[in-house]
Amino acid sequence: MSIRLPTACLVVLVGPSGSGKSTWAESQFRSEQVISSDRLRALVGEGPDDQRAGKDAFEVLDLVLERRLRRRLLTVVDTLGLDPARRTAYLALARQHRMPCHVVLFGTPAARCRERNRTRDRPVPARVLGDQIRAFSGAAAALPGEGFDGVHEAGPVSVVPSSMVTAAESASRQEDRPMALQFGLHVPSLTWAGEPGDIRAGLSGLAADAEAAGFSSLWVMDHMLQIPQVGREWDPMLDSYTTLGFLAAVTTTARIGALVTGVTYRNPAHLAKIIATLDVLSGGRAVCGLGAAWFEREHRVYGWDFPGRAERLDLLEDALRLLPLMWGPGSPPFEGHRVRVPEAICYPRPVQARVPILVGGQGERRTLRLVAQYADACNLFGDPDTVRHKLGVLARHCDDAGRDIGDIEVTHLSTAVCAVDRESLNVRLAAITPKGRTPEAFAESVQAGTVQDQIGRFRELAEAGVRTAIVSLPDLASGDAVVGFAPVVAAFAGAGDHHRVSRPARGGAPNVD
Ligand code: GDP
Ligand code: MG
Repeated sequence: MSIRLPTACLVVLVGPSGSGKSTWAESQFRSEQVISSDRLRALVGEGPDDQRAGKDAFEVLDLVLERRLRRRLLTVVDTLGLDPARRTAYLALARQHRMPCHVVLFGTPAARCRERNRTRDRPVPARVLGDQIRAFSGAAAALPGEGFDGVHEAGPVSVVPSSMVTAAESASRQEDRPMALQFGLHVPSLTWAGEPGDIRAGLSGLAADAEAAGFSSLWVMDHMLQIPQVGREWDPMLDSYTTLGFLAAVTTTARIGALVTGVTYRNPAHLAKIIATLDVLSGGRAVCGLGAAWFEREHRVYGWDFPGRAERLDLLEDALRLLPLMWGPGSPPFEGHRVRVPEAICYPRPVQARVPILVGGQGERRTLRLVAQYADACNLFGDPDTVRHKLGVLARHCDDAGRDIGDIEVTHLSTAVCAVDRESLNVRLAAITPKGRTPEAFAESVQAGTVQDQIGRFRELAEAGVRTAIVSLPDLASGDAVVGFAPVVAAFAGAGDHHRVSRPARGGAPNVD
């Protein structure tokens, strides 16, 4: 079993001279991740064992450490680690930067430390080493009570995204007592597909792979330009609902939708018409993803209004109230905050009695309140603690709205890079890590992990209340990213009884008059 450390953490080494700290650090980390008091003595003094340079070396060490933790960079402090006051200070600094702090102990037998010391160019005086060895016993005894996030015996290290530190235990819970989780595939980028002339074949192949892998929904973005979080402005971006019409034709089982439709781009009555059409042509598989929109630039370049946040949320509320009227019986008039529709007429009506509406965004005051009042599904992001917190907020809004939170489908959006083992994962990552990113920071940003790591991560999200995990796979260019993710989907298939992929709540949202 290797020591699993999260991407952003502080590692403090503890062991007497000659116990193997520097050798271990060099074998497990990149040199720039290790701050060594010996190297700093050499830098500010005459050599690694220039004891007179000790004070200056530790001052530099403290400065470098603080600057690295500010940037949330994984850092290894290679010093004796035997001074309890220093250990306490490292822990406090990590806490201040909200980073976990782990200790690695080097319990090399005293005789071996002495023997290695004797063969060194400049041995530590025997008496000093004896003091260190005694101090180490004291430190090893005290450390479990010092409040570190982990105290490990030296051994091989796996640096994993912070969401996967406890994944091994969580994956075994999933194996022992499986929970059900549906998976959706989000396709926010098309650079993997090649030239414009290749996109048609690429998308239909991807959709077929996704259905075969067990994904129960397919999602595209609703943007006119690629968004800066995903790619470059000149990367290909298809019109969302035209693409969904195509996906309706080339798929048979998956639900399809925009994640999420910006409420500012279209007259909302027209949007209802578009989604009703998609539902009819997909045989009742449309999901209506809706959000308040945020990408100001594309409004500017297309000459659209981009009202302030409060007004956009008003518009979202109008759409949430109008769409079911458009899809429902009769042709009632509608008067909202900003939208007026004299007759809500839309034939044919959707195939589904109610097209499920998913609201994107987790703003606590208004967005989640709108979910409680009007939506069939929410779309959250972040770690399980964040999900629990947001669901707590949603529960309070549901109480206020007289709504059963159990009727709201909880979806979650994240990125994933997945491979059978750590070696092939690293190969996959190497192909897509942008220049200038450290491998572990990029792995963190795309949530890279082995199949087992991913199963553990999604198990923790399922335990937090997620029922549908929507993932985007940034390595689609590899051609087998979807197939490679299939074992994760399979691990959550056919278990439990909460199999509701964005299906409308029984009875739906409260009727709106
Ligand atoms: P430190 O003083 O705790 O940093 O110890 P070093 O990493 O400098 O190691 C002291 C000596 O022990 C060096 O000569 C290393 O080559 C040797 N050494 C360290 N770790 C190992 C190990 O795991 N196996 C063997 N055989 N030698 C080691
Ligand atoms: Mg050393």
